[in-house]
Amino acid sequence: MGRELVDLFGRVHRDFRISVTDRCNFRCQYCMPEEGLDWLKREELLTFEEITRVTKILVENYGIHSVRLTGGEPTLRANLSDLISMLSELPIEIALTTNGITLEKNAHLLRSAGLSRINISIDSLKAEKFKEITHRDEMRKVIAGIEASLEAGLSPVKINVVAMRGVNDDEILDFAKFGRDRSVIVRFIEFMPLDADENWSTSSVLSQEEIFSTINSVYPLEAVERSNAPASRFRYIDGQGEIGIVASVTQKFCGSCDRIRITADGQFRNCLFSNEEFDLKEALRSGSSASEICELLELAVLAKRDGHGIGNVDFIRPARSMSQIGG
Ligand code: SAM
Ligand code: SF4
Repeated sequence: MGRELVDLFGRVHRDFRISVTDRCNFRCQYCMPEEGLDWLKREELLTFEEITRVTKILVENYGIHSVRLTGGEPTLRANLSDLISMLSELPIEIALTTNGITLEKNAHLLRSAGLSRINISIDSLKAEKFKEITHRDEMRKVIAGIEASLEAGLSPVKINVVAMRGVNDDEILDFAKFGRDRSVIVRFIEFMPLDADENWSTSSVLSQEEIFSTINSVYPLEAVERSNAPASRFRYIDGQGEIGIVASVTQKFCGSCDRIRITADGQFRNCLFSNEEFDLKEALRSGSSASEICELLELAVLAKRDGHGIGNVDFIRPARSMSQIGG
């Protein structure tokens, strides 16, 4: 310990997320084309042993104390609970981001394997609208998954809502009420240009300011001091919990971003919007020592740019969609 993953702009990286699969059983319109994508072959995915090795290196060398498993849909990775058990041998907190579809059955199993925290994505509380967004008629199953996660003792349980103008902007207060009634933290995420169909435009982004004022006018809010986490946090003045807003587009948080990502096929990415990847899988499979892997990680973090540049004339969308990067 003692070293840090620090970039040229002085940002220290501690928020580590790893995608365990690029597959998904949903087709959310902001993330994946309706016809799906070509999935990676099994041998292209990092194995559980490889994921555990790189996590151990990050923990032992750089003070990383949490890992978030994501995807694609991470619960589609066979025996996910075995990976969680392996990771839980390390001194880290394990979090999961999921579409929630399997949680009614699996929340207890994942909890007992060592999962602590969970984020469940749900973008509408209206069954028809949910189906339009995800191309799956599964809203009730996702809500049952949220209830099962609470019952299993996962804490905190958060829900992720991608806020899109003309799609779910009429449900902001419904989500606030949903969270308040269940002690669930609702995180609204500004729609980012990572949709596979490239339908994103600035006008489709519902801004942090709009989300905040809609909720604040009915349930008054006050700011909670911000950490390096990407969400601005606000608590209800009446004590009924809190919300988060990830304003990646209108108030970019690049200046304090501490996120690093590994894709399901073992590519290290220093930014969600990066067009450059570092081949960690090759390093892991060619017998590299821990210190050689550290060299690669440090080099990759040093190459991080100061910001994502959305809105700049020279902004180039990443070649991968969100589901292939791991949100
Ligand atoms: N399948 C899991 C899920 O849906 O939670 C994990 C992967 S998903 C890519 C991770 C998060 O990214 C989800 O909360 C999803 O809503 C969010 N996301 C996907 N595409 C997005 C986009 N274009 N803009 C903002 N958030 C997006
Ligand atoms: Fe699948 Fe999650 Fe993307 Fe929806 S947001 S298509 S559930 S990876």
